[in-house]
Amino acid sequence: MTSRETKIELIKKAMEARKYSYAPFSGYMVGAALLCEDGSIITGCNVENASYGASNCGERTAVFNAVSKGKRKFSAIAIAGGREGRMDYAYPCGICRQVLREFSDPKQMEVLICKSTEDYKEMTLEELLPESFGPENLW
Ligand code: ZN
Repeated sequence: MTSRETKIELIKKAMEARKYSYAPFSGYMVGAALLCEDGSIITGCNVENASYGASNCGERTAVFNAVSKGKRKFSAIAIAGGREGRMDYAYPCGICRQVLREFSDPKQMEVLICKSTEDYKEMTLEELLPESFGPENLW
């Protein structure tokens, strides 16, 4: 279980990462902060594209950023999102849930959906993606 102190740090880093969001088309800005097995925190933001399908979510940006740094096991993620100037509970999309599943134990992986350090929802990846398919199914 992630300590409350670490959760607050994750939320702050997700909110900070959100500042770098590139969302000129939707105006929906997302930042994410991943807690890696080694205790490090890696962030990402959403990056939109004029060719909409080429856009990438904040959660996946964080995962790809972490994997590109050699980190492949995650225990928590904080997600901070909403239209510019406001915070919503920004739940991860289906694709991001599946990408998180690749690198975490769904029963252990904690997902923090944040409006602020005082206002956030907490759930496991298992709750967000039940009966999931993962790499061990191919072994
Ligand atoms: Zn997504």
